[in-house]
Order: sequence, then C-alpha cells, then structure tokens
Amino acid sequence: MRMTVLASGSKGNSTVIATDNTRLLIDAGLSCRELLKRMAIAGEDPAALAAILITHEHQDHIAGIGVLARRLRIPVYFTEPTHRAWVRMLTPRTTITYAQWLDHVQQEKAARAQAAAAATTEPDAPCQPEPDGNPAEPLALCAAADPDEDDTPAAKVDPTHLPAVEYFHAGVHFSIGDISITPFTIPHDAADPCGFVFESATDHARMAIATDLGYMPPNVKAALRRIDVLLLESNHDLDMLKDGPYPWSVKQRVLSRVGHLSNHATAEFLARDYDGGAHTIVLGHLSEQNNDPSLALLAAEQALNGRMSLLGNRVLLAQQSAPLPSICL
Ligand SMILES: [Zn+2]
Ligand SMILES: [Zn+2]
Repeated sequence: MRMTVLASGSKGNSTVIATDNTRLLIDAGLSCRELLKRMAIAGEDPAALAAILITHEHQDHIAGIGVLARRLRIPVYFTEPTHRAWVRMLTPRTTITYAQWLDHVQQEKAARAQAAAAATTEPDAPCQPEPDGNPAEPLALCAAADPDEDDTPAAKVDPTHLPAVEYFHAGVHFSIGDISITPFTIPHDAADPCGFVFESATDHARMAIATDLGYMPPNVKAALRRIDVLLLESNHDLDMLKDGPYPWSVKQRVLSRVGHLSNHATAEFLARDYDGGAHTIVLGHLSEQNNDPSLALLAAEQALNGRMSLLGNRVLLAQQSAPLPSICL
C-alpha cells in the first residue's frame, strides 16, 4: 500500500492512496490540469483511479472534482450533506428544500441510468443529445473522451454534473476494490467533514488522513490507532497566527474548535494519545502565512521524544507546491 501526497495546504489538497489493485484520490483541491500534472510527476496513472473521495466541501479540497471526475469518468464519494453543500456552492442563487434536493438526486440518478443504458445498447450513437431525453449525459460521455477539452459541454449546462455519485456515512465502513475505508467525523466548519482510515485487504496495512480539524476529539483519537502512515494536520504556530496578518475574525475561525490544528495541538496528540506505531507521520495542511515548516517539524519531533527510528515514526512535511515521493509499505 502507498500514500502519495500530491498537495497539502490552504491552496489545495489531494492525496493518492493505492494498493497494487486499487487507486483512490482523496480530495481534488487543485485544477484538473494541475492534478494530472502532479500525478504524472509522482508516477501515479490517473487512468487507473477508481474513485475520488471528498473530505469536505471547502474550495481547497474540491476545486477540481467536477472536471476531473468527468474527464476520467469515475465516481465521486461524498457524504450526502457534503454533496448537497457542493451543489449549492456551484448554484448559489438556488434555494431548495430537502424534498426538492431528493428530487434533484433522483433525476440525476435516472439520467445516469438512462445514459448508461443508451451507451450499452447504442455504442456508436452520435454525439447528439436525445431529442426528448436529458441532453446532458450523452454530451458528457462523448466530450469526456476528448483529452484536450478542459471541461464538457454538459458541465457548462450543469457544473454539478458528475459521472456517478456514491454516498458514505461517518462511522460506516465501505470498500472500493481491495481497500476498506472507514470515514470518521472531524470537527471543522463544513457541512459534514470527515477524515478517513484506509486498510488494505491483502496485507492489512492501514493509512489515515486527518486534516482540517479544530481539535482532537475522542473519536478521532480512537480512529487514529494502529495506523502505519498518518497524514496529520499541523496548521499553524500559535504565536505566528496571533501576531500574523490575518484579520481577527479569521484568526478566531482558525483557532476555534472547528478550525485547524496548531503545531502545539498536534504535538500534544503525538505526546499523549498517539500509540507510537506508525511507520511514517506526514505533517500536512501547513499554513504558509502562520507556520514555519521547521517549527512544525520540531514540535512533532519533540513530542515523539526519541521514539523516532529508521523503522518507525519518521516525520515528513507535506508540501503545497509539489508532490511528496510515495510512501510505500
Ligand atoms: Zn483545507
Ligand atoms: Zn477545510
């Protein structure tokens, strides 16, 4: 199993989790073009991606999902509140009731089923909308095959259009290929934010992603036991944030129980609650304004206090501007 952090930070987040058989993208917070570029640099084949999983609907986690999912024709996994929040963000003037939302989801499903049926019965159908069908899907299927087209005509009609949507629920396991996934709730100011634990069915290696959380509640501490590779937030240095350029309202948001983990909070978790069993800990979502990578590293290393070795507790820093080499188990 391997983890490849393509980008981490407030300008975009995306990570590949893969076994020999299954490859998943967690968050797509960069443009489609940039994500494809970084996957090429990291040696991860985008065509082999089975799905995109979304932690929450903040722009730095979702910027590229629509275009990338349509280009690769792969499903996107959300919680339902996160999907709904994303749809609302892209159609900001629409206020819909929950009943209307359920209708919208049903219609999307029906349109996809209709398009799938059309694709199997008429493989050579021309690139034209059906006269009385939903025009979006046939166009999407054709346009998605064009590697130079940055987005599909269907997306121009409906930017919330996705090839397929799957819902998961925090606390409920599900599997994609040979990777078993357990989402867990994180405290953050989004509709229904989640972290993930991934376990390989073949060798039972376990990897986890926990960024964008205001503090470490007991459920997150419990989820992060027996993890081999852990991508953990170490967002800001408290003094740098307090003295830094952000307006007071933003400082309060970052510091709040639904904001981001400070170096101090991360170190506290590593010193007191972490079980010490990881091969590698990757510190991520570092603020460019309010953190210094050397401070984040120092805080984590001091917290691990001599538990680091060649075989365990190696600490790495995820980057905003370039992918990290894959961490392989
Ligand atoms: Zn974020
Ligand atoms: Zn966020």
